[in-house]
Amino acid sequence: MPELPEVETVRRGLAPAMEGARIDRLEQRRPDLRFPLPARFGARLEGRTILSVKRRAKYLLIELDDGAVLISHLGMSGSFRVEEDAPLGRFHHARGKQARHDHIVFHVDGPAGAVRVVYNDPRRFGFMALAAGRSLETHPLMRDLGMEPTGNHLNAEALARRFAGKTAPLKAALLDQRIIAGLGNIYVCEALWRARLSPRRRAGTLVNARGGPVARLETLVHAVRQVIAAAIEAGGSSLRDHRQTNGALGYFQHRFNAYDREGQPCGHTGCSGTIKRIVQSGRSTFYCPACQR
Ligand SMILES: [Zn+2]
Repeated sequence: MPELPEVETVRRGLAPAMEGARIDRLEQRRPDLRFPLPARFGARLEGRTILSVKRRAKYLLIELDDGAVLISHLGMSGSFRVEEDAPLGRFHHARGKQARHDHIVFHVDGPAGAVRVVYNDPRRFGFMALAAGRSLETHPLMRDLGMEPTGNHLNAEALARRFAGKTAPLKAALLDQRIIAGLGNIYVCEALWRARLSPRRRAGTLVNARGGPVARLETLVHAVRQVIAAAIEAGGSSLRDHRQTNGALGYFQHRFNAYDREGQPCGHTGCSGTIKRIVQSGRSTFYCPACQR
């Protein structure tokens, strides 16, 4: 399942092809993905120019020149790829089995030339919606989203205000999308390992009596920002270094320290612990009980 760094990598891959480009034609090959596609989808997009491709949490936001915003979520298996737009017929031989999961094709013409931006989604848990730009912040998909885990959006003071008095486990508090938006299971495990904090600790224990952050919450904030930044950097390298065989943007090789490493030795210097897997709120947590307290 794509997490925030994958979505950011998709955004960086799409931006050069889409920003400033005109949508000449939209091929919609089915009426729905996870949800029905917007009414008159093609008619509302064709002829529009794309001003920018942005991201909020795990949503791609494609801003159009009429003020509308196309909100796209990749679900479990969604991906985009950018192909040269050739006259009909030329590429039929090159398209493999995956083509039957190509549900939406944007034919765009812009600074990068005429290209096809193809949305492929075998499991169809992804979706697309159209919002009026002015109402984006109050859109049902956007209005309850918390802080971005990237850059300066996330800071210890703001997090302390949200964690104060919380008896929920730290893992659950970090996965709460109303507090931090777009942070998923993998990077929560990685950040907690890096900060040497137990996923089972109560979130409120990282807040002092005055409602401010204790030093370990500062450490955690740095850890979250670092694991996300490193993954985005790895995604950026994948864009530069190679095209995957199927050309899908945003999927790249990860190296984890805790996630999916059950039974393996902890990588912290001086720790002789072993990574353990537990289940919290129905999801796997990987951590080192020896050094994560
Ligand atoms: Zn350890």
